[in-house]
Amino acid sequence: METMSRIPWFPTLALLLLGAAPARAQARTPNELLREGPPSFVAGTLGDARADREVRAQIELIRGMLFPHSPILEDTAVDLARGPAGWPGRPVLYGGPHVNAVVAALAPRLPFALRGDRLSIGGREFIGNDVRLIALVPEQPASEGQPATPAFLLYAGLGMPGVAEINAVPHGGEGFLVADRFGPRAGGSFEPGPDGRLAARLGPERPRIVWRERLLGPTEGKASVRVRRPAVLPAKDAEAEEDARLLAAAERIRHELPLPGALELAVYVYPDRRSKARLTDNGGAGHADALSGTIHVLAGDPAGLESLIVHEGTHVAAHAAHGMAGTAAMAEGLAVAVSGSYGGVALDDWRGRLPDRLPDLDAFLSSTFRREPEPVAYPLAGLLVRALRSRLGADRFAREVYSAPPGEFRAACVAAGLPEEELLSLYRTAAGR
Ligand SMILES: [Zn+2]
Repeated sequence: METMSRIPWFPTLALLLLGAAPARAQARTPNELLREGPPSFVAGTLGDARADREVRAQIELIRGMLFPHSPILEDTAVDLARGPAGWPGRPVLYGGPHVNAVVAALAPRLPFALRGDRLSIGGREFIGNDVRLIALVPEQPASEGQPATPAFLLYAGLGMPGVAEINAVPHGGEGFLVADRFGPRAGGSFEPGPDGRLAARLGPERPRIVWRERLLGPTEGKASVRVRRPAVLPAKDAEAEEDARLLAAAERIRHELPLPGALELAVYVYPDRRSKARLTDNGGAGHADALSGTIHVLAGDPAGLESLIVHEGTHVAAHAAHGMAGTAAMAEGLAVAVSGSYGGVALDDWRGRLPDRLPDLDAFLSSTFRREPEPVAYPLAGLLVRALRSRLGADRFAREVYSAPPGEFRAACVAAGLPEEELLSLYRTAAGR
């Protein structure tokens, strides 16, 4: 029931595990840059406090999972005037020019433009706040009084700050990738043009289709769903049952989460796995796109659909209300806790199925979560979050614990009124140990 889209893919993990290869003349793709060694993260700080937190959270998520020793710098720490010497090694920048001061300063020299609600690249415009760009910008020599710049990897979206789960889209092998709420949309490479300046060469665009939309609700509990289905498919009777389940799912989330206002979910329903895989690059039963706040699911068994929507909708609703989760364990744990089940099995019934030896809590909150088998990691996280919400209250959990990065999780629990010893025993008893 869970999907690769929640897994922040930093390019090819396999490549990284192979170890550093000899440095090449010049990195042309994200994979090539990362093959040279661990990156340095450069966080954009031009947004408001919430945007800053979100940029930081996205970086911490990737860093905790793959590059625990990589530094995180603020954008103001890069000294462009010094040329490459003013940059950290193998820089990975988060945030477009509205978010990251380095990208803003370089904007006139970049082979693309991110402005307002549009991305201009390779002679094309991509419009909408769900549009994002992942690009390996090659090194550029000093010219016209501008200092040289090293190659850097950029994660930038048009929204504010536009980087939540931006690593989730599979990428890494091309110079750049444009993506939107559905997934990869067009890739390409940067080549020097006749004037010596870099120009973007855009590859073929992935298909996008027309959708018909229906607004369900709002219910008395202030939940509603905007459901979209391919316009080429005529409406079917079975949709009424699906719609009822979608709305019921939204209502359950609205009831379970301490949301400040009404909840409206945006759900795309795909008729079959093949069409979902073709349109989104993700053939799983369901996934959420955090940046656009949209959910993408296969039509099918109504009960399974409701549970799936509760899970994915919780990701979207929690992100909108509380910001990014500080750890994958809290994100998935909350989704599993709110849905009350995982893989069609009630949460309580998972206790007897978990291994006798639980993963160390600190490791579980950082690097090992994605390395545990999913049918261990997800129900265990769900049990932990359910116990935390019950002990602290859903509101306090959401405000004080949910967004804590791995290294601050224990302190956040203590500050919320849960002493460390009690946290550890709560973790064990939640899992029935
Ligand atoms: Zn999930």
